Amino acid sequence: MDIKRTLGQTGIKVSPLGLGTVKFGRNQGVKYPQGFDIPDDNILSDLLAVAKDAGINVLDTAPAYGNSEERLGTLLKGQRKDWVIIGKVGEEFEDGKSSFHFTRKHFEKSLERSLKRLQTDYIDILLIHSDGRDMDILTDPELIETMISFKERGLVRAIGASTKTVAGGIKALELMDIAMVAYNPLYQDEKKVLDYALRENKGILLKKALASGHIDKFGDNPLHTAMKFALSHEATGSIIIGTINKDHLLENIATAEKIISNINDLHYQ
Ligand code: NAP
Repeated sequence: MDIKRTLGQTGIKVSPLGLGTVKFGRNQGVKYPQGFDIPDDNILSDLLAVAKDAGINVLDTAPAYGNSEERLGTLLKGQRKDWVIIGKVGEEFEDGKSSFHFTRKHFEKSLERSLKRLQTDYIDILLIHSDGRDMDILTDPELIETMISFKERGLVRAIGASTKTVAGGIKALELMDIAMVAYNPLYQDEKKVLDYALRENKGILLKKALASGHIDKFGDNPLHTAMKFALSHEATGSIIIGTINKDHLLENIATAEKIISNINDLHYQ
């Protein structure tokens, strides 16, 4: 996957397929079709090597993904510059439960902790992890000022929000660089956010492109159908697909490569 897409006006070049890391650190309170054990370091290190060899450069993590950040910090030693790391602020997950904290103080402490856990001095993309009250969060000027200050202080390269509504996704793009939205053939409600991003040259990351693993819902050839759908919108920078299964990762890479080679897309470069 030599091809990279530039995320809006950020100058950050991302592989069209990124790797989601919820399952690297958390197996409680998740909505996947099957339960699973959290993989050991050998499995994850192998998975990351396969991703990197294939040209994947995007990893998505968050404080809410159990010990995903800490594990990446250890596993990516010596490779920091090879990856575009997406982090989050706002959601915590402790004792099997999520809680949300949308304050300047929390954002400051959360980012400081993420940098320590990830063993780095910057995060490439920092997103506000919305609980669904997108507009309440994004119309709080203190929170946006805090995110902008992180960028000005060189702690993050780009900012945005992982949103759950059309109004929220568009607001995130008006105020910041990037929105992460859910988009798949069975959930197209937030397409307007992608259309807005394309018009305004803003960055889009997609989550839940495989409906969190419920891919049987996509009919025949479900992986190809869902990935083609997600990659075909010209606003899509990277689709973040979570997996801890090497065969699935290889299948996702092969499918993405096949789709991309057939898309006549001028903004791949
Ligand atoms: P997803 O990527 O749509 O689905 C992931 C699920 O699909 C996993 O259970 C995985 O299982 C399965 N899968 C992957 N490749 C497969 C294949 N080739 N064949 C069959 N099954 C396959 O959904 P998601 O995990 O909910 O979201 C993806 C990433 O987006 C997350 O890891 C996270 O980084 C991010 N995310 C962000 C937010 C947010 O609010 N910011 C919310 C949700 C997710 P296996 O492990 O068995 O492959």
